[in-house]
Amino acid sequence: MMSYFKEIAVGFWSLLAGMAVTIRYFVKPIVTVQYPRQKIQMSPRYRGYPQFIIDPESGTHRCIACEMCSRICPSQLITVEGVKLPGAKQKVGYHYVHEHQYCSLCGLCVEVCPTTALEFSQSYRLVGYHREDCVIDHMTLLQERQKILGLPPTLILTEAEVEAAKAAEAAAKEAKEKEAKAKAAKPAEKAPAKEVKE
Ligand code: SF4
Ligand code: SF4
Repeated sequence: MMSYFKEIAVGFWSLLAGMAVTIRYFVKPIVTVQYPRQKIQMSPRYRGYPQFIIDPESGTHRCIACEMCSRICPSQLITVEGVKLPGAKQKVGYHYVHEHQYCSLCGLCVEVCPTTALEFSQSYRLVGYHREDCVIDHMTLLQERQKILGLPPTLILTEAEVEAAKAAEAAAKEAKEKEAKAKAAKPAEKAPAKEVKE
């Protein structure tokens, strides 16, 4: 009979202990969020996928298509192409694709970039149903971000424009080489002989 009452007392005590935990957390501030309705503010050190920094002066990216990021990437997942537009001193990137499904977030691409063109995004919605969903076209992504910020979108060059720019670059290079050859072939002019005073 005693054990019966003891069992009831222990059960009642465990019920009270459980309720005490519930009541304690009931009055504490909520730490969970109503995802996906509620957005989360990530830490500044959080690493989403690498993305272009939008230059505050030009309102576009700073990529010069040097390919240093694609060469240093241990997973070889970056494809970058650039072209020198007529009158420009250096190339400009017109195609930048990142296969995020292979990315280890090592940060080498961000660190090596000579123009500080890359940063880690704060995006945490990184799921997809297919591998292709993780392939990021950074030019398209840049345009979307520019639209949100109210900036004019960076024009994506068409194939014809790229070909025309490449042809112009090749022609300019050829002309420069011809000029250099002509200069080298020209005989050095003789300096006038000095008059000898008696
Ligand atoms: S973070 Fe590392 S693995 Fe990811 S793209 Fe950059 S270099 Fe490649
Ligand atoms: S290292 Fe920087 S500038 Fe060079 S291709 Fe990559 S993002 Fe562009």
